[in-house]
Amino acid sequence: MKISSILSGGGPFVSLEVFPPRKDAPFGPVKEAVAQMAELKPAFISVTYGASGNAQANTAEIASFVQACGTPALAHLTCLTSSREHIADEIADLRARGIENILCLRGDSPADASAASGPAPSFAHAVDLVRALRPSPFCLGGACYPECHPECAHIEEDIAHLKEKVDAGLDFLTTQMFFDNNVYFRYLARLRAAGITVPVLAGIMPVVNGRQITRICRLSGTHLPPRFQSIVDHFGDDPESMLDAGVAYATEQIVDLFANGVPAVHVYTMNKPEVASRIMGNLHGIVAR
Ligand code: FAD
Repeated sequence: MKISSILSGGGPFVSLEVFPPRKDAPFGPVKEAVAQMAELKPAFISVTYGASGNAQANTAEIASFVQACGTPALAHLTCLTSSREHIADEIADLRARGIENILCLRGDSPADASAASGPAPSFAHAVDLVRALRPSPFCLGGACYPECHPECAHIEEDIAHLKEKVDAGLDFLTTQMFFDNNVYFRYLARLRAAGITVPVLAGIMPVVNGRQITRICRLSGTHLPPRFQSIVDHFGDDPESMLDAGVAYATEQIVDLFANGVPAVHVYTMNKPEVASRIMGNLHGIVAR
């Protein structure tokens, strides 16, 4: 089922996320995580795409398994390091497997400098991938950054690029994680003022590893509000306490988003069915299934 059709059903909806096994790693543990998450009846499950090439081949297979579990799948696809032929092969594979939803992403530049000095990429930005795929009937999503993409100097410029990407044919957007809902609400107002009218799924990360999140947020420019920072400072060294606190904080964020009219939240569950289960359990009477 297309995500655009799901979203037209009103909500509130919650979607979950998994990453595929690395090349040559067993599929079993990831499929077990998918099966457990599918039982929670999320709106869809997204499957990330390894930018390094390491896990790329496995995205389509896991997305296919998501659908075999009775849940719509969203397959991520990055383009910066891919040729047009490779993208065409990936699309043909997704189509053959009955996947209807693709998250169109640029991906990050390879750390290897020699790769960066090679020929110009076929797809320099995600908008180029959207343009290549739009004639197709896939439901297409894209990423957006409430606190500005780290490579862009100004949020106005980032939103102008986003508008171009949406106008190329996106059906919905999913945000980078944020820990202060006001950041999302202010950003949404700016997108609407810029004429971006597609649904904007709010990306929520339940933090279960305090030390890791501090580093990730520093790299991605994500603001850690003092209330959240004190949770990390206090519970970050105790995994059990951090899990409780992280799930509670994420649940509170999601309830506040729904209470303020946001129709869909995407939870970055990262192959952790226990986290997904606790969050979905907390939202049992709230979420549409
Ligand atoms: P773009 O939309 O191309 O934007 C990248 C930068 O280029 C921005 O600074 C933008 O302002 C600028 N830009 C855009 N268009 C133009 C233009 N025409 N001219 C000049 N500048 C321009 N990474 C993975 O490897 N695998 C995944 O599965 C994955 N999933 C993700 C899911 C979500 C919801 C999010 C938020 C991110 C995900 N990422 C993933 C990370 C993503 O690939 C990186 O953040 C990457 O740096 C940017 O990708 P993008 O698609 O947003 O790029």
